[in-house]
Amino acid sequence: MRAVLAVALMCAFTGAANAQVSDATRAANAAFSQTLPWGDREDEDFATRGFIAAYDQPQIRTADGSRVVWDFTAYNFLQGAAPDTVNPSLWRHAQLLARAGLFRVADRVYQIRGFDVSNMTIVVGEAGLIIIDPLASAETAAAGIALARRTLGDLPVRAVIYTHSHLDHFGGVRGVVPDPTGVEIIAPEGFMEHAVTENVIAGNAMGRRAMYQFGAGLSPGPEGQMTSGIGLAVSAGTFTLIPPTRSITHTGETLTVDGVRIEFQVTPDTEAPAEMNFFFPDFGVLCLAENANATMHNVLTPRGALVRDAKAWADYLTESLRLFGDRTQIMVTSHAWPRFGGDRVRDFIASHRDAYKYLHDQSVRLMNAGYTDREIADQVRLPDSLAARWFNHGYYGTMMHNSRAVYQRYMGWYDGNPADLNPLPPAEEAVRFVRAMGGEDRVLAEGQRAFDEGDYRWAARVLNNLVFDNPQNTAARQLLARTHRQMAYQAESGIWRNMYLVAARELEQGTPDRPPAVVSADLIGSTPTSYILDLLAVRLNPERLGNRHYAFNLVFPERNERFAVTIENGVLVHERDQTVAGPTITSPRAVFLQAMATQSMARAVLSGQIRIQGSRRSLEGLGDVFDTPDPNFPIVTP
Ligand SMILES: [Zn+2]
Repeated sequence: MRAVLAVALMCAFTGAANAQVSDATRAANAAFSQTLPWGDREDEDFATRGFIAAYDQPQIRTADGSRVVWDFTAYNFLQGAAPDTVNPSLWRHAQLLARAGLFRVADRVYQIRGFDVSNMTIVVGEAGLIIIDPLASAETAAAGIALARRTLGDLPVRAVIYTHSHLDHFGGVRGVVPDPTGVEIIAPEGFMEHAVTENVIAGNAMGRRAMYQFGAGLSPGPEGQMTSGIGLAVSAGTFTLIPPTRSITHTGETLTVDGVRIEFQVTPDTEAPAEMNFFFPDFGVLCLAENANATMHNVLTPRGALVRDAKAWADYLTESLRLFGDRTQIMVTSHAWPRFGGDRVRDFIASHRDAYKYLHDQSVRLMNAGYTDREIADQVRLPDSLAARWFNHGYYGTMMHNSRAVYQRYMGWYDGNPADLNPLPPAEEAVRFVRAMGGEDRVLAEGQRAFDEGDYRWAARVLNNLVFDNPQNTAARQLLARTHRQMAYQAESGIWRNMYLVAARELEQGTPDRPPAVVSADLIGSTPTSYILDLLAVRLNPERLGNRHYAFNLVFPERNERFAVTIENGVLVHERDQTVAGPTITSPRAVFLQAMATQSMARAVLSGQIRIQGSRRSLEGLGDVFDTPDPNFPIVTP
């Protein structure tokens, strides 16, 4: 998860003028409310139980005080019943996620919640603290541990456990471990590779789409951002990473850390490519990482990612239940609140598992019956017994987009109908659509008719064609924005809401103008060189390269690395530990990366930081053949 909400708390977007709620939306939210299990108040108990103290400041700031990283007051509006502009189920979910502070979970087990998108769990060992998942940024993690120490005393951190390879579970580590000397850092096997590479190759596209998913630039509010589904929002601080000192490789592995016994279950390729659950037999506490949540998770995250395996996810939960269920009294997870009582935990795991299993099995059953992804998405719903549980609801992942992900995993993008094999690109199809409909006015009238009838899904399709045919059609853009807003107000999923609201804003105001994300120095430093050269390869612009070709050697002496690089036919090929006929570029890797990123290669060469042996002339123009992708590329316009 990327910190695209970085400025969300400061960059206010007021949608109040556009906040008219249609009768259709009001009716849809009222009808939806009738289906909800309001009598089940267990989560209200679990989300508040053991509360010790809140943070003593309204905000967490950067070390120099110049910037707000986290604002505890941002969700103060979440009082009373849901307004018409918010799905009532999502409103309730947001109210529970907003409970912030230090909580006692069990004897010697505490949690910091509501300080970031994720939780930090703190276990009191014999001589110090064991930190599980130190939040997303160093500032929030430091504030969290400072609050905990007011209750627990000034104990040192003896160990850190990363449950999995996503940034919101390790990015704050330097906030709790300023000096890693002597601190054990424990993570699942493969953690480091996935932590630094999951978002490299497709990073720009994922980052742009993440602005939609996490509601970048939206202020929290009744007409704005309403959580990111899995948690409130990602903090906007400093992302850090300390590599693990110990990898957990297999289920059944045990460790004693600072006098505390831990039993591990590795769960690769579930919510993350490297992830693990673990059990504290001395406390009866089970940590299910991000494999279990207070919401259905994403089988395919809408910002883009490799598709996940819903069946494996369910199967690992079955294994968790068998390995630890009988001995568990309390369950903690990486997001949201704990669950208390062995029976309640077992019941939760079984029901939550069944939701993923049902999603998978029924999507595949319909697929084998000949239904295609959109048809499956429109009909797969959890049965009442599973839908009656709040934690199976789609605040983050939804049955709709997850069932399409199951289809994608097995079948790919093609639905088997050759009419869909080679369709026109959106803008070209839009031109023909508008012509067939009898022109722009007719299309706009049809969009308005659909809007007035509350048929927003159709209105969005019709008006999207009109905008792609003629992006200057202001009336079309405004009506499409209003359409997206009504769908946002009805959405139970926090991220669906965010996507609709960001789309509406960009239709009205154009694409944003934000600078490229600053990539963490810790993350770059830990990224294998081969991945960085892969990233360079996918930035190669064949038109700018033309018929030129390059061959050179790259040497990073401080890493003892050497690569042979050739560029021709629009392709960059790199091979480790090989040599090609051509000049050799020798440089500290960080200097080389900096020079490439800022297109200041010539300056670095002149200053002597980068040395070139052999023909410099054969490298001429090399800096010009790579694209710098636009971090704000258009999405809802052509
Ligand atoms: Zn997470």
